[in-house]
Parts: sequence; C-alpha cells; structure tokens
Amino acid sequence: MLKKTILSTAIILFSSFNVILAQNNFDIRVKNLLKQMTIEEKIGQMTQITLEIVSSSHDEKGFKNVLDLKKLKQAIVDYHVGSILNSGGSANSAENWQSMISQIQNLALKKTRLNIPILYGIDAIHGANYIKEGTLFPQGIAMGATWNRELVGRAAEITAKEIRTCGIPWNFNPVLGLARMPLWPRFWETFGEDSYAASEFGSAYIHGIEGDNNGLIAPDRAVACMKHYLGYSVPQSGHDRTPAEISERTVRELLLPPFKAAVDAGVHTVMVNSSEISGVPIHGSYLYLTKVLREELGFKGLAVSDWADIENLYKREMVAADRKEAVKMAVMAGIDMSMVPYDFSFYNTLLELVKENKVPMARIDEAVSRILWVKFKLGLFANAYPDENKLKTIGTESSRKVSLAAAREAITLLKNKSDILPLKKDMKVLVCGPTAAKLQSLNGGWTYVWQGNNEKLFPKDNLTILQAIQKEIPSEQVTWVPGSDFDKEIDIKKAVKAAGKSDVIIVCLGESAYCETPGNINDLTLPEAQLQLAEALSAAGKPVILVLAEGRPRIINRIVDKVDAVLMAYLPGPQGSVAIADILFGDVNPSGKLPFTYPRYVNDLVTYDHKKSAESDPVKFNPQFEFGYGLSYTTFEYSDLKLSSNQMSADESIEVTVTVKNSGGRDGKEAVLFFVSDKVRSVTPPVKQLKGFEKIALAAGESKQVSFKLTRDDLSFIGRDLKRITEAGEFSVMVGKLTQKFVLK
Ligand code: BGC
Repeated sequence: MLKKTILSTAIILFSSFNVILAQNNFDIRVKNLLKQMTIEEKIGQMTQITLEIVSSSHDEKGFKNVLDLKKLKQAIVDYHVGSILNSGGSANSAENWQSMISQIQNLALKKTRLNIPILYGIDAIHGANYIKEGTLFPQGIAMGATWNRELVGRAAEITAKEIRTCGIPWNFNPVLGLARMPLWPRFWETFGEDSYAASEFGSAYIHGIEGDNNGLIAPDRAVACMKHYLGYSVPQSGHDRTPAEISERTVRELLLPPFKAAVDAGVHTVMVNSSEISGVPIHGSYLYLTKVLREELGFKGLAVSDWADIENLYKREMVAADRKEAVKMAVMAGIDMSMVPYDFSFYNTLLELVKENKVPMARIDEAVSRILWVKFKLGLFANAYPDENKLKTIGTESSRKVSLAAAREAITLLKNKSDILPLKKDMKVLVCGPTAAKLQSLNGGWTYVWQGNNEKLFPKDNLTILQAIQKEIPSEQVTWVPGSDFDKEIDIKKAVKAAGKSDVIIVCLGESAYCETPGNINDLTLPEAQLQLAEALSAAGKPVILVLAEGRPRIINRIVDKVDAVLMAYLPGPQGSVAIADILFGDVNPSGKLPFTYPRYVNDLVTYDHKKSAESDPVKFNPQFEFGYGLSYTTFEYSDLKLSSNQMSADESIEVTVTVKNSGGRDGKEAVLFFVSDKVRSVTPPVKQLKGFEKIALAAGESKQVSFKLTRDDLSFIGRDLKRITEAGEFSVMVGKLTQKFVLK
C-alpha cells in the first residue's frame, strides 16, 4: 500500500514537473522568437484573413477551392499574416483541404524569414461540417437535450481528429451563450438555457477537442474557441448582433460561469461577441476583455475578434470615429487577433498606430506572445502539415454511429396521449409537412455552406424523415403529401383526403436552415401555413403525430392540444431522420429532455429559473413544456431522496442520493436532474436552479442510486455588492417530485 502511494506520488510529481517544464519551455520559445521579430512581422501575426481573398475559384460540386498563389504569397510573405480562416464558400474535400493547407504552410515555413506556421481556423460547429466527407453531429441544442456529457465529448473528439487530419488545428466552437431568448437565430448553437448545463457541456466539449491540454496538444487534437464572449445570446430584440441590456448581476450569475468553466477546462482561445452589453461593445471593452477575462477568469490564451467587428466599432456601433480609433480601441481593450477578414487594413492601421506611439509595443508583444504560444502548444513549429495517411479516418462508420447515438438520445417526446407512440409497424402512415422531405431541416446552419441550405451538397446517403420512415416500414404503407411548405400552403386538401386512407398521420413541421442574421424573425409563432396544415389534419379523424425539426421553439399553442403526440427533434443532424423513425416505431426508447423552456405564448418568454414574483397572479408560469421535460416509453419512479446531512457548514459538502427505478415494461435511459432552491436571501432567489445531472440507463425493473455532491459554492450567488457570497439559511434539493430540506450554517 505504502509502495503504491509512493509510486503514485512520484508519478504525480513527475507529471506536474513535466507540465511546468513544458510550460516554461513554451514561454521561453515564445520569448526567443518574439525577440527576433520586426514590428511588421508582429502585426502580421495579429492579422487573420478569409480564404476567399487568397483563392482564385471555388467549385462547390467538386468541393474544391483553388488557391491564388500570388495573393497567398502577398498575404503570408508581404503582410506576414498569422492566421487564415473559413472554407472559401462551401465545404471542401478532405484531399483538397490537405493540399491547400500544405501549400499555405509551405509558404509560411519556407518563404518567410522566421518560418512561423499559419494558424488555420474553421467553424466545425456540429462536427467537421466544412469537410465534404466529415462526420456531422446534432447541433448544440440537441446535444444539450441528450444530457450526456460523454456523447458531447466523443463528438468533439471526432471533430478534432477530422479537422486536424485536414491540417486544421483551430475550431471556432463551443458556443457558450445561453438559449434564453428564443427568437435569437443562434439559439440552436448553444447547449440550452441553463448556465450550469452550458458549463458542463462546454467543458466536456473542450476536453474532447483539446484532449489533455496541459502540455503539447496531441497531433490529432485541436484548440477550441469559446465564444462569443460575452452577452451575445440575449439581445433585447431577439435579432442577431443587436444590443443586450444586462445587469452586471445577471452577467456574473448566468452568462460568465460557462466561460469561467471553459477557462478552467484549459481552453486556448476565445472569440468576442459582435454586439454590446448595456451600451458598451465588447470589442472595445477593456473591462470585459482584460479586467474580467484575464484578471478575474485567469484566461491566458488568444482573443480573436469576430468577423469584421473592429471595423464595426466605427461603421455600426458608432463608438469610434474612424478605423484608426477603432483599431486602437479594440487592441487596447484586449483583442489579440483581428478577423479582418477581407483586406490588410487592420495591418496598415495598427502599424501606423505603433509607429506613432499610439499603441505601445508592450501591448503588441503581449498579443503576439499569446498567438505564438497557441502555435507552439499545437506543435505547429514541429509539424504543421496534414497527414495523408489518415484520410480514411474521416467520416468512418464508427463516427457516424456516435452521431446516431447522439440523435437518439437528444430527440424528446413531449406528448404521448393514450400511448399512441410507438406506432405499430403494420400501420398505414400519411407523412406531411415541410420538414419531412428536407435534409436542411435536420441540420440547420453551418452545414456544407454557412446557411446550411444548399441540399445539392448533402451526401447522397443522407435520409430525410420521409425516406427514413419508408425504410423503417414497408414503403407501400407510406403515403406522402406535403400539404404545405414552410410559409405557404401547397395542397392541404389533398393531404386531408389522403388521411382518410391512413391509420395515422405524421406531420413534420418546423424551420428551414438558417444561420446568424439571415435567420432573424419577428414572430416566434410557427408560420400560418404550417398551423393550418396541422389543424386541417387534426380534423381528419385520425391520430396525428407532430414532429418538430426546428432550431428554436416556434409557438405551437394553436395545434398542440389537437395532436396526439409531439416529438421534438431539434436539429438532430444527418442521422436524425433514422433516429426519428427509430423512436416513432419503437426501436429506440426516447430519452431526451428539453434543455430550454418551450414557451406557450410569444410574449411570455420566462425561463425555468425565474423569480417567484415573476409568477404573479393571474399570470402563472405556464410554458408549453418545461425545461427538463421529456417522456419515455417506460416509466421511472424516484424514491429515497437522501442528504448525507441536513446541515452544511464551512467548507463541507452534502452528498445527495436518490433511487431511480425503471418501473415500466421496457429498457430506457433517464436524465436525472438535481435542482436547488434557496428559501430566503438578500437578492431575490430564483425558484430553482439546476446543480447536477446524470444520464443513466436502466433495464426494465432495474433500480440505480444516483448521487451528486452539493458544495457550498453551489449555494453561492452574486450579492448586493456584486460579489459572490453565500448566506446561511434553509435550502431545498429537488429531484423529480421529491424534495429534501437542509440548512446552510
Ligand atoms: C460568426 C462566428 C464565426 C465567424 C467565422 C462570424 O460571423 O459570428 O461565430 O466563428 O463568423 O466564420
């Protein structure tokens, strides 16, 4: 025993020594390189351009981007640019990526004075979505609905391996904003509305992308980019890149913790919110970019602007008079790299500012050091080239299975009147609705193209919901009548007529693909044509199953009581259609739970963790479906909620345990969510807050004990003086319908 302890202590000491050594080594190498660099070379490192401006053509069908070597040389050799991003217009084949990255690194490593490799960045948002052969996963909101950290981590790991095989070591993900404003067109890029869940999934994702990130990042991993720091996800209007009014308390209570967790998980880079918090654009905020991010959160990595956002400080936000003022403001606030991305204006302007002593060299050195540090940590100086031998590891069957497993665990059963689901496989089925035959509705934005709406680019073996149903049961039992498109009627009467000959109707509604500003809407209600289709079908006298494929909760109160079942698919990715069919016909037992509150009314957008006073009579908290809601084909019973103590003092913690029994007739998975509420405190408490969760598998009849550790920190909040504090008093822990009380001393 003693021997074992000595051995493990020695191993720990040895590995921490290695970490320190590696750390110092990186710092020394950064310093040495920095000493040799000219001002121009340094400012070049801070410049990021888009692939489009160094390309001569982009052939979407062949998934091929062709570089313009003259322009590339100008960027890398003459302007010393340190980073390139994007896909050139749409996804490229893995082979094309490898050849482009090799050409890019050839120039940087062989034709420049100091041979500094390029840091290539890409939006691999739901898998390697800009690689033709890449594995695509459900979007973030669906990953959040799985309540399965391991799946989030595995998907991220596969993503890292696939982009790195192409020579791309930097992924602009995860999105750590919170889905608290349902109109926002990037709602689906987040892990949901809860701050703790986003922290947990964000950390799992970062570990998946970066692996063990203490020392050198492994050659088959990448660096992640937590984004968009800070406050982007809660614009007042619900429109993309529009102002947010957020109190400092809310910033600190809800929005900052996922970023803090990401920093603690070792994330190497951050991308900045394009908009503002309470009048201050984040790209110009020394408070948020330096004081809070660096001094409070302890972030050491590189901060990149978002797309053209330094320009936006004088073109859109109007806090700078001209480009020069904007560049100075952003760099002095703490931006290390500008995603310019179309020209060299940032380079020229910053050079002038440094020469005129308006931006100190020390600030430039700091920014460049962070950029070089990331390049060293990625091992790019030793090898910046893609590995041709690994091409076959992209888009493998086993990776696709992870995507399917995630889709199966995400899809959420929200209503199942009289156990209409699962359907019998000998039923005659009528399939209707705009999302039934559209691949884009399963995938959303960031799918082969930015907007995700060019279905010609989707792999031929991807199935729509309709095709997956036709594979699940004999196709002659399936009738397809669209009924309506997203916004207009096609043939509702025909659909109703066809209903007469069917046993059940599956109506697939929701959204087409969109991303960022083009996805802005003014009304959360599901479009009229789709509501009319569902209403007409529900009057046809046959059971109606509503399948929703959508990136945000479109209001369905007009139809929800008229249908028999509701299956929320979110944006479940390319395997989503198979997962939907599996669940509809009972091959898979659904286990997703909503990672956000599904509102009932357009003007009642209240989150689950609201204040008690938000429920004032006669308007109760009455969402369509609550956060954490999701049904199964089996039943789960919760019992024996126990606390290891009914008191917590000083730095103690309490162990919370509950027994969960699968009391129904079939195997299933259950996400067990632990909530805590504070009875009285000096700042109005939320009715409850999520503090722990675990996804478990239970065979029919099986019971398991699930436990989690509640710490003093979990009971803290942002006090009146805006500092994190705890206050003594009574608390409750809630799991399922069970509650236990304890006292914090
Ligand atoms: C988006 C970012 C993205 C960047 C690069 C911006 O428009 O806001 O999320 O990473 O483009 O494509």
